Amino acid sequence: MQSFPCPFCGPRDEREFHFAGEADKIRPDTTQTISDAEWADYLFNLKNSRGPTREIWVHTPCQEYFVMERDTATMDVIGAHSLRKDIA
Ligand SMILES: [Zn+2]
Repeated sequence: MQSFPCPFCGPRDEREFHFAGEADKIRPDTTQTISDAEWADYLFNLKNSRGPTREIWVHTPCQEYFVMERDTATMDVIGAHSLRKDIA
């Protein structure tokens, strides 16, 4: 069992967390016309990178979303940071 760090609660069992998306994914500009394929690509396709990556996770007990940096090849957690600007 792996331990993940919640920036608000500290280290917790990985089963308390859910993946919420890739952190650096850029939403298409919907004020411009985009194709269904471009929108579907944004919604459903992931880079699924191997190695160091930045992802959005949610810790279900506290319901806080945060950025977790981890290595998908080694499963090492590099760090976790709040998405709130008022918390470091
Ligand atoms: Zn938490």
